[in-house]
Amino acid sequence: MNRLILAIDQGTTSTRAIAFECADGRFSPVAVSQIELEQHFPASGWVEHDAAEIWTATLQTCREVVRKAGGVGRFAAIGITNQRETSVIWDAATGRPLHRAIVWQDRRTADVAARLAAQGLETKVQAATGLILDPYFSATKFAWLLDAVPGARERAAKGEVRLGTIDSWLIWNLTGGRSHVTDATNASRTSLMDLKTRQWRPDLCDLFNVPQNALPDIRGCADHLRDCDASLFGRALPIHGSAGDQQAALVGHGALNAGDAKITYGTGAFLVANVGDQPVVSTRRLLGTLGYDVRGTAAYALEGSIFSAGSAIQWLRDGVGLISESRHSEAMAQGLKDNGGVYLVPGFTGLGAPWWNPEARGTVVGLTRDSGPAHFVRAALEALAYQTRDLLDALYADGAPRLGRLKVDGGVTANAFAMQFVADICEVEVERPAFQEMTALGAARLAALGCGLIDDLQPVAAEAPAVWTPRMTAPERERLLAGWRRAVKAAIVAAPETEAP
Ligand code: ADP
Repeated sequence: MNRLILAIDQGTTSTRAIAFECADGRFSPVAVSQIELEQHFPASGWVEHDAAEIWTATLQTCREVVRKAGGVGRFAAIGITNQRETSVIWDAATGRPLHRAIVWQDRRTADVAARLAAQGLETKVQAATGLILDPYFSATKFAWLLDAVPGARERAAKGEVRLGTIDSWLIWNLTGGRSHVTDATNASRTSLMDLKTRQWRPDLCDLFNVPQNALPDIRGCADHLRDCDASLFGRALPIHGSAGDQQAALVGHGALNAGDAKITYGTGAFLVANVGDQPVVSTRRLLGTLGYDVRGTAAYALEGSIFSAGSAIQWLRDGVGLISESRHSEAMAQGLKDNGGVYLVPGFTGLGAPWWNPEARGTVVGLTRDSGPAHFVRAALEALAYQTRDLLDALYADGAPRLGRLKVDGGVTANAFAMQFVADICEVEVERPAFQEMTALGAARLAALGCGLIDDLQPVAAEAPAVWTPRMTAPERERLLAGWRRAVKAAIVAAPETEAP
């Protein structure tokens, strides 16, 4: 029997393919290929990718992995996971992109989101989609593309133009232009999908000025999305799984029940908490989103992001030069008996949930003549935990069940000091799996379920995880959190005043 799954992980900075061998419910990587992706910054706040380059890199990495893993005959299915919200427009007849893709970080449509918010429409949009009004999501990007490409609106009306997120773009190309579909998790990031019915909302398509006929059909995360074109790898492999990157990581971690949550600590940090089979609309400016939709059964999630996590460590290394390698931060922080009252609010690009203050900037408070380089390092690592605590407090305030364990992945989780501090400050057990590629693993698991290699998404752990248990006393934790809250207040007070939109 063919037991390999080809997982495509199309991320913001690189495109990767991983071949997983699936045996007795366990997934082991057997081959990997990766190609970096060029970032285009045509104007301040604008970020673009070349969609054609993304497809070429996807094909190249897949072909390399298929070859390394012993040929296409050993594969059962393809699973896809991708950077979410990034928006592509292409010609239905030629399959050529009509513009560079607008990347999720891009802020060019901020005025549109602000105008809709000023019209009092956020409540309506949030009730339907779970999302706040922000240029982050695809709807305003799609509309911008249709207006920017000459004739695109007229051609879209005639059915000659396709819109989609990266998953749609890849599936279109993998199927030789025969399939224009998206999975429900990616669709849940557009501001156009009704979270409950998991269908496009005509009223929202009108509101955002996006013609529904240019959008892909919405499918489940483990559906058979069609076979790929036989000419690509020598055989028509079925595409059997697809989910946005953070949702795929949720599945990869096996966070399948209400009260399960994962946080990925990379450059930024993304918390996704499973809240069960009913959507939750946040009152704390978390995002309501779809965890996954498998065989018609949905798991909903609340999501919150921290803009600067590992990037604060990068800044200490590359910007300030206090450390020569990220990993040195651990010993420096451990070398102090406490933080000496120094707090760093890493608002380099504003503050994310639950503060959502785009004007705030990085702030350090509590410096004394005793403060040295190690205090900056420790404060940057501690900030990860305080920011996580803020997200969890928002989550609980929204009525989400208390977490059993917080599952973690990403580059920063190599830092044991930081992970222990997260456990202490958040009063939760922190679990880091031995295998770290949770995003690709989630896509592989969805595809394996889709093609019948496994019966359910329940993970079968290959190796024991690392676990950190809270051990800080309550008064100590409260003292530290009080210091952090004062520091956040200072960062917000110091932020430039924004003019009302
Ligand atoms: P991304 O996927 O966002 O590029 P990664 O998951 O690869 O990020 O994580 C990279 C980040 O992790 C970098 O910001 C780096 O500074 C940080 N990092 C890596 N190792 C450590 C460590 N031992 N301690 C603290 N931060 C670390």
